[in-house]
Amino acid sequence: MEVKTITPPIVQLEGVAKSYGGAVALARLDLDVRAGEFFTLLGPSGSGKTTTLRLIAGFERPDTGRILLDGADVARLPPFDRNVNTVFQDYALFPHLTLVENVAYGLRAKKMPKAQAEAEAEKALEAVKLGAYGGRKPAQLSGGQRQRVALARAMVNKPRVLLLDEPLGALDLKLRHQMQAELKRLQHETGITFIYVTHDQDEALSMSDRIAVFSEGRIEQVGTPFDLYERPATEFVADFVGTSNILGHALLRPEKVRLQPLDAPVPEGANAKPGIVRESIYLGAVTRYQVVLDDGALLAVMETNSVPLGNRLRLNAGDQVLAVWPKAAAVNIGN
Ligand code: ADP
Ligand code: MG
Repeated sequence: MEVKTITPPIVQLEGVAKSYGGAVALARLDLDVRAGEFFTLLGPSGSGKTTTLRLIAGFERPDTGRILLDGADVARLPPFDRNVNTVFQDYALFPHLTLVENVAYGLRAKKMPKAQAEAEAEKALEAVKLGAYGGRKPAQLSGGQRQRVALARAMVNKPRVLLLDEPLGALDLKLRHQMQAELKRLQHETGITFIYVTHDQDEALSMSDRIAVFSEGRIEQVGTPFDLYERPATEFVADFVGTSNILGHALLRPEKVRLQPLDAPVPEGANAKPGIVRESIYLGAVTRYQVVLDDGALLAVMETNSVPLGNRLRLNAGDQVLAVWPKAAAVNIGN
């Protein structure tokens, strides 16, 4: 028997619109975020992600619509009266203060006694694995460490909701992957609801419980990573999340296609189309191909390199192939 618990939304946007001058940044947005979720706003630059975050934080007022935190309308509350904290991409640490002083700053501003505030700050620094660095100044840290201080500074307030606006955007790829895992761990341990902004689909897919895909001030789809990748609601989502082949109104992901010799038998119930390899890019674990089908369509294909070399069909530009995929692998967009 399946038991379902219905958690009420911790953040609700109802018909929220925002324009700057005449330009629409957000057009009537509806959004529910559940308590404890890692919820991501994903979309290209200028699609309205930061505006949405700033509205939730209280740095902006909506032109129309309601914003509710824990069911209560917060339209009239200033940022510091909302149980929400924000982490930005530029860490904005105080350079002349130590890490402990940086993290304790907000608590001191709320009149917490110094010893207590610094003890809380030490704990928050330990949570982001910087317990030994409390006496240092920000200039003595790496980029990734500074971002962790910014995180500790937000989390020390124990907010109900943490808003993160492209927090890892300034880090190199390896550090970014480390920090992604770190953020997931922190979110899991604290149970704080994270609303996370990124334009990086890999980051969104790997970290999120649910994702809202933004385009031009609208939400195209809200769903789990699986939903968005396997069952995109629109062509925009199919295209923005992962690589897609659009065949008519159907979506065929590159990894669902196998390339085989022209004369090899085709499995029953499979589609098969002949074509010529135009490009072959070996990436170690996988090889990416571009295949021009005989009907003129261009097909992106990804093969895993799991078969021992020598046994494997090694394909180069100019090779004739049969592109084969199970009929069910091509899904109708919007279904
Ligand atoms: P994203 O974070 O997805 O890149 P934003 O929410 O920052 O997008 O911006 C959405 C749209 O609103 C963009 O067209 C942007 O130029 C515009 N915009 C955002 N903030 C302002 C502002 N303070 N003044 C004027 N236009 C703005
Ligand atoms: Mg932004």
